[in-house]
Amino acid sequence: MTVDIDAIVIGAGVIGLATARELAIAGLSVIVLESTDAIGTGTSSRNSEVIHAGLYYPQGSLKARFCVEGRRRLYDYCESHGVAHRRCGKLIVANSDDEVAVLEGLKAKGEANGCDDLRMISGEEARQLEPALSCMAALVSPSTGIIDSHGYMLALRGDAEENGAAIALMSPFKRAEVTGSGFTVFVGGAETMSLTCRFLVNAGGLHASQVASRIDGLSPALVPETRYAKGNYFMLSGRAPFNRLIYPAPHAHGLGVHLTLDMGGQARFGPDVEWVEEIDYAVDPRRSDGFAEAVRRYWPAMPDDALTPGYSGIRPKIGDPNAPASDFRIDGPEVHGIAGLVNLFGIESPGLTSSLAIAMELRSRLGDG
Ligand SMILES: Cc1cc2nc3c(=O)[nH]c(=O)nc-3n(C[C@H](O)[C@H](O)[C@H](O)COP(=O)(O)OP(=O)(O)OC[C@H]3O[C@@H](n4cnc5c(N)ncnc54)[C@H](O)[C@@H]3O)c2cc1C
Repeated sequence: MTVDIDAIVIGAGVIGLATARELAIAGLSVIVLESTDAIGTGTSSRNSEVIHAGLYYPQGSLKARFCVEGRRRLYDYCESHGVAHRRCGKLIVANSDDEVAVLEGLKAKGEANGCDDLRMISGEEARQLEPALSCMAALVSPSTGIIDSHGYMLALRGDAEENGAAIALMSPFKRAEVTGSGFTVFVGGAETMSLTCRFLVNAGGLHASQVASRIDGLSPALVPETRYAKGNYFMLSGRAPFNRLIYPAPHAHGLGVHLTLDMGGQARFGPDVEWVEEIDYAVDPRRSDGFAEAVRRYWPAMPDDALTPGYSGIRPKIGDPNAPASDFRIDGPEVHGIAGLVNLFGIESPGLTSSLAIAMELRSRLGDG
């Protein structure tokens, strides 16, 4: 069977769903291909559910631009669509002179990125806000918040479907051929089929490189290797001691073992960084020792045995594992010369926050339909 469609989006994570919504609203016929039996079972449901303000990323990077723009759009979207969220704010804490310098650098970087409400406070002021906290100084980010990521994805799906998009579950992308007028896409699953489309968006997350390598005509030199940096979470048994999110000073590959809250008020710590070869979400209980040490730097009164293994997510990392985290990579025809194709690589944090801004970028790159 062959079906003609305007746009095929591979992957029903937050990026694929936001893109499908945006393209459907622009009037395109859209199918989302998802290999599993539900939306959002990948990284999009295995993260910290934080709406980031946008202070961590180098000025001019895609991460900085999409995070700041995406954050504003996401708050508006949550309000207009009844998606559970809370603008709870966060404190990034310093426990040494070096870390104070890191926070000062972060404040400057955040301001350059358009975060206009950051302020440094003393350890004393931080304790007035959060009495259980131990720190020399803190950077306050009032615009940081939390979101029910699954509620958000259901809202995106609803919008996309209302505008005519179809989400095809259990429909793995197998390969694509570039034709004169677009693509022929081969889909596996119970009923194998081929579809033809003008636009093809690869939002395959952890599998984006594998998906790209199956697009005939795309040079292998333009497919980066995706490495996996797992992030484990431990849950706090008992009441959360903080009302705001608490982050340590960041390091090269992650934001440090931080405390986040979910919409139900449950506190969790994580994610750490564990480089892995395979996708395996099991959390090794032995890693709690490293967590306790990291957490006690800013919460010395954490009771023994307060941490239980929670869940994990995996960051799709492109670039040198020994270098600072790479930027998002969004490859359109200007990179590979194939009209109508966009590959998204390395969509790690802040991908959730950035999703609506990335979707708008794809719509404009694909010519507004
Ligand atoms: C530990 C961790 C914490 C994070 N915390 C935050 C945070 O607090 N705030 C924030 O903004 N961001 C955060 N992020 C980043 C955010 O979660 C991701 O950027 C975002 O979820 C990526 O969405 P995605 O749609 O690209 O990928 P995914 O959600 O992984 O979706 C990709 C989809 O593609 C499907 N797929 C793969 N191959 C195929 C195929 N061949 N055919 C069909 N379908 C296929 C998969 O099944 C999957 O459903 C975090 C990430 C991690 C790992």
